[in-house]
Amino acid sequence: MKILIVDDNEDAKIILTRTLKHHEHSVESASNGVEALSVVKIFSPQLIISDVMMPEMDGFQLCRELKTDPSLQKIPFVFYSASYVDPQDERLAASMGASRFIVKPLGGEAFLRVINEVIEEYKEGRLPLPEKPGEEESILLRRHETRLTDKLTKKEKELKDREERFIYLVHHDPLTDLPNRRLLMDRVGQAIKQADRDETPLSFLFIDLDRFKFINDAVGHEMGDRLLAAVARRLKGCVRGVNTVSRLMGDEFAILLSPPSDMQHTVAISQKILAAMSQPLTLDGRDFIISASIGISLYPTDGRNGETLLNRAKRAVYRVKEQGRNGYRFYSEEMNLQSGERIVLQSELRRALNREEFRVYYQPQVDLITGKIFGMEALVRWQHPERGFLSPAAFIPLAEEMNLIVPLGEWVLRTACRQTKAWLDAGFSELRIAVNLSTRQFQHRELSELVGNVLKETNLDPKYLDLEITETITMQDVEKSIVIMNQLSDLGVEFSVDDFGTGYSSLSYLKRFPLNTLKIDRSFVKGLSEDHDAEAITTAIIAMAHNLHLKVIAEGVESKEQLKFLRANRCDAMQGFYFSRPLPPKDFVALLEEEKHLEF
Ligand code: C2E
Ligand code: MG
Ligand code: MG
Repeated sequence: MKILIVDDNEDAKIILTRTLKHHEHSVESASNGVEALSVVKIFSPQLIISDVMMPEMDGFQLCRELKTDPSLQKIPFVFYSASYVDPQDERLAASMGASRFIVKPLGGEAFLRVINEVIEEYKEGRLPLPEKPGEEESILLRRHETRLTDKLTKKEKELKDREERFIYLVHHDPLTDLPNRRLLMDRVGQAIKQADRDETPLSFLFIDLDRFKFINDAVGHEMGDRLLAAVARRLKGCVRGVNTVSRLMGDEFAILLSPPSDMQHTVAISQKILAAMSQPLTLDGRDFIISASIGISLYPTDGRNGETLLNRAKRAVYRVKEQGRNGYRFYSEEMNLQSGERIVLQSELRRALNREEFRVYYQPQVDLITGKIFGMEALVRWQHPERGFLSPAAFIPLAEEMNLIVPLGEWVLRTACRQTKAWLDAGFSELRIAVNLSTRQFQHRELSELVGNVLKETNLDPKYLDLEITETITMQDVEKSIVIMNQLSDLGVEFSVDDFGTGYSSLSYLKRFPLNTLKIDRSFVKGLSEDHDAEAITTAIIAMAHNLHLKVIAEGVESKEQLKFLRANRCDAMQGFYFSRPLPPKDFVALLEEEKHLEF
């Protein structure tokens, strides 16, 4: 098949092209709708796979152009989008005559399955036809600046447009396109009826951005407006389409979680919002960190109508602000107590460092040419007196929230460096230690000073230290990150990108950072030898990394087949249960002593 890929993201294009070529398709690509239209003419694709959000002309506009052109409308059109898809967008795509709407990850097995279905349908001559847009669709269509296809005379059309626009404006906030307070209250009324009928609870979230006034004053109103619009999109991305996200005024938003929405669900959504907000927003190349405070009221306990629910949720927000912002609270104290388990864990975590309850385990990293151990990754564990052995996933995020990650991270670094020095002195030569850094540590002012001091104090040559960072770390404050990394790099310290493939950054973007190694995330390694597409992605990542002179370590290798595939595709090193689990120091040293290595 001749397939055209339309995406503004270079890496996505490369990965998808490789995957499809691997499946014997002929592939061309374009970076936006405008480019796609000209490629269509030369290449005559038999299938178009397109991203939604693109500069110049987005996926919807492109689909519209093609599906209204009799000579092109027979080409099946498939949308794909970021992990979240608004059901409205899906409906819009279907009404335009798109064959499918696929959610990333790109090029995975499921992705290919859907593409094959579409190809089959195409071969059988089955193709969805575009519908005449309905009322809701037409609003969406206009938002995507596409033409209406109704046959009204110009004047009638103008009138109808004005009327629709009016109805729309009465119910929406023009800046963010979100329902306004009026429509929100309307929907709260409906939701209350439904909650009564089904006897289910309902939650109301009031969201106030932290210190937005300062940001607004600092960057100017125009930029401030764009930030608000971006925040609105983020909020929408956090809930399913049946819930109402609304902008009340200024930097105040509200979310109505349709019934049934119990407390647990509400907490999960609140945490999701806070997490989404903690990611920097990039506008015109500048990063902005905007946090939010969330107040929650519940129906029927906190109030029996929209206005009361709103007022009580607002009151809860004041409490969040008093307690330092960037958090959530229920209006009722009882509800706050129930989510208090976290607080207990927090205080235990705070004491754990002094009580020496943390341990560092070491997982060997093995060279795929020599088969020998060349280093190890330090992985922290918490030996909790009552709860037992806790994995980092259970406490690192909490430690990060509490800022405890800075002293904890320092302790891990010092322990790991001291241990490595001891092993080197014991005669195990050329052992390198990899230590994970969290975002907070990276933002901390004195990171390079701290690392320098620890190295001096433990007497470890900087060339043995490898710091693992994630893609998101480097995105927080690019210029600052580069400065800090260069300082450390000058000392001889090396950097790895951890969990590569799970974040949003592209390899070409990472070029700017002084990196030495790229660690392919477990999720890709897992699919090797089972799933051709994970294989294609892994091969593509290895090739791109080598192109940038980066060494590649595969994480989470569990089987001989995976190992074989990685070696055949020139992956440099591996880490995983197949060779060894993370081990306490005495077990790790036993591996060194018996000179355990990989046999090929
Ligand atoms: P990571 O840096 O990606 O570490 C690799 C994780 O994969 C470890 O999980 C390791 O035990 C696990 N793993 C290794 N080989 C295999 C395998 O073959 N199969 C499977 N299924 N898993 C494998 P762990 O120790 O639970 O650590 C989880 C994450 O916690 C780490 O992911 C890292 O992001 C974070 N972490 C661990 N220690 C520290 C630390 O000292 N500081 C910071 N900031 N984060 C840490
Ligand atoms: Mg790591
Ligand atoms: Mg990793």
